[in-house]
Amino acid sequence: MTLLTEEQLNKLKEAWVKVPWVNESCIGCSACVAIAPDVFELDDEGKSVVIARDSYNEEDVNDAIGACPVDAIYWER
Ligand code: SF4
Repeated sequence: MTLLTEEQLNKLKEAWVKVPWVNESCIGCSACVAIAPDVFELDDEGKSVVIARDSYNEEDVNDAIGACPVDAIYWER
């Protein structure tokens, strides 16, 4: 899958699309990937990253936010 780049993130934000993001505190537990595999995947370093999409399922992302043990996931908007 294609990962969301900063440039794509900015375009989505300009279009007022609600976008999730993962900060550097991710410990790679993969809980978010299990909950929302259409939104998150682990990169080569074992950290969660956001997959490029036109929109994101709010319920799935909120579930992943709730499950993250280090509060690494948040809504950019
Ligand atoms: S749930 Fe949190 S710590 Fe675990 S992989 Fe996802 S972002 Fe990283």
